[in-house]
Amino acid sequence: MAALILSCTSQQDADTKIWAWMVGKTTTTAGQWDYYFQKASEAGIDAILLECHGGYPEEIPADADGSSSFADNAAIQIIQNALPFAQKYGIELHAWIWTINRTELALRHAHPDWYQVNALGQSCLDIKLYNREHYRWLCPSRPETTQYLKERVAELASIKGLAGVHLDFIRYPDAILPYGLHQSRNVVQDKVYPLWDFCYCDTCRENFKALTGIDPLDLEDPTSDARWMQYRWDALSAVADALCQEIHNHGKIASVAVFATPEESRKLVRQDWPAFHNVDVFFPMIYHKFYDWDDYHVLTATREGVTELKTNDNNGVLCSGLFTGHVPQDRILEFMLYARTGGSTGVAFFSLEGIDRNHGYWEQLKTAIADFKNKDESR
Ligand SMILES: [Zn+2]
Repeated sequence: MAALILSCTSQQDADTKIWAWMVGKTTTTAGQWDYYFQKASEAGIDAILLECHGGYPEEIPADADGSSSFADNAAIQIIQNALPFAQKYGIELHAWIWTINRTELALRHAHPDWYQVNALGQSCLDIKLYNREHYRWLCPSRPETTQYLKERVAELASIKGLAGVHLDFIRYPDAILPYGLHQSRNVVQDKVYPLWDFCYCDTCRENFKALTGIDPLDLEDPTSDARWMQYRWDALSAVADALCQEIHNHGKIASVAVFATPEESRKLVRQDWPAFHNVDVFFPMIYHKFYDWDDYHVLTATREGVTELKTNDNNGVLCSGLFTGHVPQDRILEFMLYARTGGSTGVAFFSLEGIDRNHGYWEQLKTAIADFKNKDESR
């Protein structure tokens, strides 16, 4: 399906395609939509990943008749409200949703048993992991999880005019937080501790026991057990495969936001993303300062991802995600070229709101994008 993206545009366009993440609400006004899409268009941004279901989703009662449908009416409404403005300014629109991390109260109340459990036997619904209200995670091993998420993906992917669906938080909760965040979050994570080690729900334990004869709770050092790590990676990959297939079933582009490099992803959040199938675009969030990396790591992290995708015979393309808070406005082009030199296809920026808050950033971004696109033509 990578071909789908390239078929509607030239290779050169894909190489210089600029993406940006943006948050949408049902309360976003027509004036605000118009402002952001116009600014994005003027700056040279080609596609927007619009958050329509985040950590604090709006919940509109399913049906007036009181049916128990979980349809995400708020997400659908946000996309439908944004679409005319995307079309007005010629911007490709993708619906960005949080995936395994699902906080909607209707679901939590109806199916608490679908949620992940840590190695202490605590459900993520019963504790406030990292003191974050929104850290509530579905178990990828449960068929109900995949089914539920497929329905949510399908109702968005069937919206006419939408280009794709973008899956974020398609991972486990952080077994270890990115290194640059330990101090501010007040955690000591020199290794994986059971409080942050998920998923030990009954389903996962039974599945692993059936495979290996071992209850993962009996493992002395679960992180060093290759089979138990692999089991969890595979369970997550299977959900990603199924959801991206569902997106393709509706003729839309499937993309995922993933951690910065494959190695860190597997270690920190048990996300073996080079093994995800059916993904058209991988967006590693190379927010380098959260990892205590120097700037040049944007290039090396990009290269690591591209290399592993190739090693895995994965046809998905990689587009490096940059955090504008870590990219000074007078060095935007330099960071874009780090990404390109590492093998990135285009560049994505997080986020439009971040750009807007930073005085002068829009103008600098516009210049950098124009130079980036020109550099490609002169290659
Ligand atoms: Zn589980």
